[in-house]
Amino acid sequence: MSNFMFGTAINCIDGRTQQVVIDYMKRKFEVDGVDMVNFPGVDGIFANGEYSEELALIKRATSISIERHGSKVIAVVGHHDCAGNPGDKEYHYAHIRKAVQEVHSWKFPVQVIGLYVDDEWKIEEVR
Ligand SMILES: [Zn+2]
Repeated sequence: MSNFMFGTAINCIDGRTQQVVIDYMKRKFEVDGVDMVNFPGVDGIFANGEYSEELALIKRATSISIERHGSKVIAVVGHHDCAGNPGDKEYHYAHIRKAVQEVHSWKFPVQVIGLYVDDEWKIEEVR
């Protein structure tokens, strides 16, 4: 599996969001699989812009995916009907944008994108 191409998703624990994110990243970035960094309502963890224990764990897991697996893209994901970070689409878009900024500031040499899983469980790219 030495040529296996990895991506990385920082996503909620929600089971409805996993496969759609993996499928999207495989299609869009031609990766073979996606390392998953999962916390409930993860986009909300980035929202207040302050250091937290959870943020440190997310960063550590992501760094392993980048440095050991050679992942070439990180997606930060928020989604519709999130139990861990309840809010409407606009609210999630704001949190996802904030999360993308924060992950950028970690300075991994890879692309960082924001994704929103909508009320039809389809992917929207957050710009
Ligand atoms: Zn959720």
